[in-house]
Amino acid sequence: MKERLEKLLTEALSELGGADAVDAALRLKVKYLGKKGEIAVFLSGLRNIADAERKAAGSLINKVKEDLEREVDKRIDAIKQREKAESLATERLDVTLPGRRFSAGRLHPVTQVAAEIEDIFHGLGFAVAEGPEVELDYYNFEALNIPKDHPARDMQDTFYVSEDVMLRTHTSPVQIRVMEKHNPPLRVIAPGTVYRRDSDITHTPMFHQVEGFMVDERVSFADLKGVLTSFLQQLFGKDTPTRFRPSFFPFTEPSAEVDIRCVICSGKGCRVCKASGWLEILGAGMIHPNVFKSAGYDSEKYSGFAFGAGIERIAMLKFGIDDLRLFFENDLRFLRQF
Ligand SMILES: [Zn+2]
Repeated sequence: MKERLEKLLTEALSELGGADAVDAALRLKVKYLGKKGEIAVFLSGLRNIADAERKAAGSLINKVKEDLEREVDKRIDAIKQREKAESLATERLDVTLPGRRFSAGRLHPVTQVAAEIEDIFHGLGFAVAEGPEVELDYYNFEALNIPKDHPARDMQDTFYVSEDVMLRTHTSPVQIRVMEKHNPPLRVIAPGTVYRRDSDITHTPMFHQVEGFMVDERVSFADLKGVLTSFLQQLFGKDTPTRFRPSFFPFTEPSAEVDIRCVICSGKGCRVCKASGWLEILGAGMIHPNVFKSAGYDSEKYSGFAFGAGIERIAMLKFGIDDLRLFFENDLRFLRQF
């Protein structure tokens, strides 16, 4: 029996030496040391051994069993160590690899310019107001001294929802809405989205305007010139020349169009300024007495000026963009440049 035991131990150790994974070693453990394993067979054979020899035989079997258990555990430990070393070697962190790029969003150029305009007017003491984009005829036209037969009311230009309701064609209705609720002195700008039935290289059906107005006792055309010149020079550079040309709008009297010297050619004349050296940038004027009447203001006591500008146009001139439609195509290659 002793020889058979030794032979078993030799066999087991040799098989164990060939086991190179934990589960292979565990299978051998079951094969030799399990309840129905080879050692168990020897133990159950003890019954047939004479009383005098049984004790010695039993302790011999137990010694082999203990030796084998120790060897299996050592083998499993060794396999685990090796696997750990291998994974450390192959999964090593290379700190010199470039990091994953974090893809951050950014503000649309129109949003950036609108925010810059708001900033400048905050500095001049103006508050920001908003109004509805779906507007009543009264606020969009009537209260702004735009009579029923005015061309701005033409079906060609306006998106009508019903006879009396439309998508606002300009931000000027906010003027009336603010004046109805508040008394002078007022200094307010109202940036926002407006809609017109128009689509070509310089027109889109939806675009953005900023409206502004100031109302108080004794506000004069000099205030209009001062505020707008300061605004345009903060926006386009402090030495930017400006000029005011007489014009006509139904809601202001007198009215002016305001130009800056061409930012592309510095006044020499180019395609963008149509060789004039000047770029029209906003419309303005002294608020018409009929508009004050709509708001319930006494036009003998109060005076004020109002202006409006297209935000896309300002963004185009600031960034040198020559096609308005680029703003609305949402091409990331375009938007990432700002
Ligand atoms: Zn030019």
